[in-house]
Amino acid sequence: MSERGVADELKSSPDVRRMICITCPLGCHLEVSVHDDTFLVSGNRCQRGEAYAREEVLNPRRTVTATCAAVLPDGRHPGPSDGIPRRVPVRTSQPFPRERIQELLDLLHTMEIQLPVKSGDMVVENALGTGIDVICTRSLDASGR
Ligand code: SF4
Repeated sequence: MSERGVADELKSSPDVRRMICITCPLGCHLEVSVHDDTFLVSGNRCQRGEAYAREEVLNPRRTVTATCAAVLPDGRHPGPSDGIPRRVPVRTSQPFPRERIQELLDLLHTMEIQLPVKSGDMVVENALGTGIDVICTRSLDASGR
């Protein structure tokens, strides 16, 4: 749902959302309500809590981790006798729009990564047009190291 759509949904629904601010270890318990053009946050001990609540309600994002199939230089998928992980761990370079995470996971599930790779190598540039990349989180060569 678009940011506007979320805001519109909240406007028509007068209930209050409760969440815990994870910006710092204090973990303030926040109450958030949006009515008409007013966005109200309470329970926050500092302004970062309001910014967190606004982002969480209007544009929630999460870092996505997943794995992609590994492919050896000869084109084979590693088998049990190769002693090499069959999948390469990856993650988004930044928190990713939550409403599109399943779409991204579907894409990553179909992808194959040719070995060798290095931690930090880009797997997908500008994933789904979001401007966010997907990168490897582990170095892996064809000998499994
Ligand atoms: S509102 Fe401020 S003090 Fe409270 S958890 Fe968030 S960042 Fe920390």
